[in-house]
Amino acid sequence: MAASVAAAAGRLRRAIRRSPSWRGLRALSSEAPPTQAAAVRDAFLNFFRDRHGHRLVPSASVRPRGDPSLLFVNAGMNQFKPIFLGTVDPRSEMAGFRRVANSQKCVRAGGRHSDLEDVGRDLSHHTFFEMLGNWAFGGEYFKEEACSMAWELLTQVYGIPEDRLWVSYFGGDPKAGLGPDLESRDVWLNLGVPASRVLSFGPEENFWEMGDTGPCGPCTEIHYDLAGGAGAPQLVELWNLVFMQHNREADGSLQPLPQRHVDTGMGLERLVAVLQGRLSTYDTDLFSPLLDAIHQGCGAPPYSGRVGAADEGRIDTAYRVVADHIRTLSVCIADGVSPGMSGAPLVLRRILRRAVRFSTEVLQAPSGFLGSLVPVVVETLGDAYPELRRSSAQIASLVSEDEAAFLASLQRGRRVIERTLKRLGPSDVFPAEVAWSLSLSGNLGLPLDLVELMLEEKGVQLDTAGLERLAQEEAQHRALQAEPVQEQGLRLNVHALGELQRRGVPPTDDSPKYSYSLRPGGGYEFSTCEAQVLQLYTEDGTAVASVGDGQRCGLLLDKTNFYAEQGGQASDRGYLVLVGQQDVLFPVARAQVCGGFILHEVAAPERLRVGDQVQLHVDEAWRLSCMEKHTAIHLLNWALREALGPGTEQRGSHLNPERLRFDVATQAPLTPEQFRAVEVTVQKAVGRDEAVYMEEVALARTAHVPGLRSLDEVYPDPVRVVSVGVPVAHALDPASRAALHTSVELCCGTHLLRTGAIGDLVIIGEFQLVKGITRLLAVTGEQAQQAREVGQSLAREVEAAAARLSQGSRHVAEAHRLSKDIGRLTDAVDTAMMPQWQRRELQAALKALQRRANTAVRKLEMGQAAQKTQELLQRHTEGPLIVDTVSTESLSMLVKVVRQLCKQAPSTSVLLLSPQPLGQVLCACQVAQSATPAFTAEAWALAVCSHMGGKAWGSRVVAQGTGSTADLEAALSAARAYALNQL
Ligand code: ATP
Ligand code: MG
Repeated sequence: MAASVAAAAGRLRRAIRRSPSWRGLRALSSEAPPTQAAAVRDAFLNFFRDRHGHRLVPSASVRPRGDPSLLFVNAGMNQFKPIFLGTVDPRSEMAGFRRVANSQKCVRAGGRHSDLEDVGRDLSHHTFFEMLGNWAFGGEYFKEEACSMAWELLTQVYGIPEDRLWVSYFGGDPKAGLGPDLESRDVWLNLGVPASRVLSFGPEENFWEMGDTGPCGPCTEIHYDLAGGAGAPQLVELWNLVFMQHNREADGSLQPLPQRHVDTGMGLERLVAVLQGRLSTYDTDLFSPLLDAIHQGCGAPPYSGRVGAADEGRIDTAYRVVADHIRTLSVCIADGVSPGMSGAPLVLRRILRRAVRFSTEVLQAPSGFLGSLVPVVVETLGDAYPELRRSSAQIASLVSEDEAAFLASLQRGRRVIERTLKRLGPSDVFPAEVAWSLSLSGNLGLPLDLVELMLEEKGVQLDTAGLERLAQEEAQHRALQAEPVQEQGLRLNVHALGELQRRGVPPTDDSPKYSYSLRPGGGYEFSTCEAQVLQLYTEDGTAVASVGDGQRCGLLLDKTNFYAEQGGQASDRGYLVLVGQQDVLFPVARAQVCGGFILHEVAAPERLRVGDQVQLHVDEAWRLSCMEKHTAIHLLNWALREALGPGTEQRGSHLNPERLRFDVATQAPLTPEQFRAVEVTVQKAVGRDEAVYMEEVALARTAHVPGLRSLDEVYPDPVRVVSVGVPVAHALDPASRAALHTSVELCCGTHLLRTGAIGDLVIIGEFQLVKGITRLLAVTGEQAQQAREVGQSLAREVEAAAARLSQGSRHVAEAHRLSKDIGRLTDAVDTAMMPQWQRRELQAALKALQRRANTAVRKLEMGQAAQKTQELLQRHTEGPLIVDTVSTESLSMLVKVVRQLCKQAPSTSVLLLSPQPLGQVLCACQVAQSATPAFTAEAWALAVCSHMGGKAWGSRVVAQGTGSTADLEAALSAARAYALNQL
C-alpha cells in the first residue's frame, strides 16, 4: 500500500472518528439475526465457547482492584494483566487460562483513555461501554486463527456483508527496528479481503502498548464502512485484535516475549448499531428505552439524532449526554465507586453534575429526574450484569441526593455569573477568582468545565492563566494543611488584639460549628449561620472599615460556624454571602483562633463593610471528611491502648480531609500483629455504627474518670467530652468504668454522629519521630479500601513470584526476568499506599525471594556456561587460540564461558562473539597466562569491537565489549588475525 494512500486513509479515519455524523448515510438493511443487543452479546459469547472452545469469564468490576495506575477498568485485558506480564501465580486458576472470552464493562472517562469530551458530540463514543473480547494465552492460537475467528463471526454469524469491512495492519517502524506485520496482511488476503481494503499504518495506529514498559505488539483492526459503497468510505472502528509478542524494557528496547498472546476487543454498542442497520449507537435498543424515558420524563421534543450545528438548542446532545452518563453512574455505583472528592469518585461526581445540568437546563427535567432513569438502565443491562439489579435502589437514592445538592449550587452559580457579567466590560475575561469559587475545588462544587460551558454560552472567555495560578496555590495550600504550621495565613497582631479587648469586644461565638444533624437517609445537614462583621483587617494587619476589589482580608464576626484550626483538626473552608445579596460569593480560605477571636481569611470580590450582615456556608464535603478523620483518630487512640496496654500515650495528632496522623509513645516499634489488631478493633467499632455522644461538662467532673483520654493541654471550663457508644453522663460516672472500654476523650473538634461513616481505617505508614515516639499515618473510607486492595494485589503478586521461583526456571533469561520482577515488586511494596503491617510482611518475604532468585540466576548461568564450554572444547582441538561464536543472552554470561574455557585450557587464549536479535554483537576475551606481555585482552577486544563500530573495556587478562555487524565472519577473522600477530 503506497504510503500516500495509507496516509490519506489514516486522515480519513481520524476525521471520521471525530466526525459526529453517522446520520445522513445509507443504512445497512439487515435481516441477519441476531440484532437485539442481548442476543448479539450472547451470540458473541456462544460463538467463542461453542465453536472455538473458549472459557467464559465474568466481567471484572469497573473499579480496578489494587491497580492505582488506573482510574477505571478501560479494556477487557485489564484483569489479565498478570498473564501478559508473566507474573501470574502458576497455581492460580488464571494461570490455567488458555482460551477465554467475555463481555467487559469499561469506563473511559479520565486517565489515559478519556472519551468524556466526545460524549454527546459524536455518535460512537461512550463513557461506559461493553467490550466483547476473546483471548488466547501462551500461544494457544495466534494471528491466523484470531483473524479467521473474527471474520467468521462478523460475516457468517452476524451476517455483515464482507464488502462493508476494511482491515488495517501494522506497517512497521524502522526506528524501532520493527518490520511490517506481513503475516497479518497475508492472513486477511487469504481470507479473501481484497488488497484495496487492507491498509497499513505506523506505530501510532497499529502498535499497541500497555504502558511505558510491558507487553506490546502489533494490532490489526476491523472497520465498518458506514457509507456502504455510496461515495467515499466512512469507516468506524469495530474490533481491535492485538498480538502481544514483545516486551518494552525499561531502557526502551524491545525484547521478544517468552509467550505470545492474542487480546481482542470489540465495542458492543457499535456492533449492535451495525447489526440494527443504524448509523448511531444511540439508535439501538441499548439506548432507545432511555431516550424514550427522557422524552416522557422531561416533555422535551423527541430525540431526533441531530449533531453539531444542526442540533439547535443542543436538545439531542443533551439526550445523548444524559443517557450515556446515567449508564456510567449506575454501573460505577453498583461496582462501589460513588461520586466523591478525589480520583475516580471525583470523575464520577463531574459526570453526575454534567448530566444534571444537561437534563435540567436543556431538557427542562423536573428535579429528581435523573434518579428515575436508574430502573431503565437496570432493565437494559441488569440481565447481563446482575449486580445492577441488586443495588438499584441504592444507586437511585445516591443519584437523587447528589442531584439535589448540585441543583442548589447550580442556581446560586448562575446568579453569581449573571452578576459578575454585569460589571464586566465587553472585552473583559471572566475573573479566575469567581470561576474558582464556583468550582469543585472552590465552594459551589460546579465542575470547572461546566463553568466554562456556562460562560461559553454567554459568549465570555475565562481567565485560564489566572485559573492555573489558583490551582497551583490550592495545591500548595493543601500541602501546607498537611503540616500544621503555626505562622501561616493572616493573624491578629498584639495591637489589634489589645484594641479589641479595650473596646470590650467579646470573643467570637463559634458554637454554631457544632450545629449539624443526621438526615434519616444518612447524609449530614449543616446549618448556615448569620453573623455581623465586627472588624476587617488588611493583609498587613491594619484595621479598616471596608474592603473590596478582590482584596484578601481578615474578617472578624460576632459568631461563626467555621471550625478554626485547633486541636490538630484542619480549619474549615467555604464562603459567605451578604444577607440580601445571594449572588456574590466571598470565599473563605481558612479560619484561625487568635486570643479567643476567630479570624476568617476572606477574598472580597465586592465591597464588604464593618456592620454588614453575612451568611456563612462551610464546605460540607471538606468538613465531613475532617469529621470522619477526627472520630477515626479517637477510635485509633483507643484501639492502640487496647493493643499496646493502658499506658499507651498519645503525643499529638493532626488531620485534614486527605489523611490523618497520630503520634504515640511506644516502648518498641509496633509489630505487624499489633497493627492488625488495632485495625480490627477500629473496624469493629465502625461496623457497629455506634452513636458518638458529645456534651459540655464542668472540667472538674472529668478529673477522676479512669480511662478518660486527654492531652497535656489546658482545657477550657466547661469542657467538651466526646464519647463513643456510651452517653457522656454514664461515661463520666467513675463507677461505670466505661471509659476503659470505649473511646472517651476531652476534645473540642467536630465529630461524626455515628461511627459507620468512617468506613474503614488503614495505617499506611510509621516513622520513628524520636526514640520512643512513633508517628502513624492512616487513611479512612474509600482510600482505606483502596489501600487494602493494593495490599492484597501486591500480596498476590508476591505469592505468584514465590510460586514461579519454586517451580524453577530452565532458562537464564527466564530466571533473570523473575529476579527483575522481584526487584520491581520490592520497589512497588516500598512505596505503595497499603497497610503497613502487610508492607512489613511483604518486604521480609521479598528480601528472601530476591536472594533465592539471584542464587538461581547464578546457578543457571554457571550450568549453562559449563555446557557451552564443553561444546566449545569439543569443537576445538587443543591449540593456543579459540575464536568462535556462541549464543548467550548477556555479556556477563559470555564472560563466564570465556573464563571457564580458559580455566580448562589454561594455555589457550579465547575470544567469543555472541550475536543478539537486533544486530548487536557481544564480545568477551581472555589471554592465556603464557602469552607474551604485549598481547593484552583489552587491546584484543578493542581491535575486534572497533572493527564492529563499538567499544571495549577490561584488563590485561580479561576484557569485554560490544559492537554491531551483520558480517560476523569478518569480525572473527579480524580477531584471529590480531591474535596470530601477537602470539
Ligand atoms: P476509537 O479510536 O474509536 O476511540 P479505540 O482505538 O480507542 O477506538 P480500542 O482501545 O482499540 O478503541 O478499543 C477496542 C474497541 O472498543 C473499539 O474498536 C471500539 O469498538 C470500542 N470502543 C472504544 N472506545 C469506545 C467508546 N468510548 N465507546 C464505545 N465503544 C468504544
Ligand atoms: Mg478511543
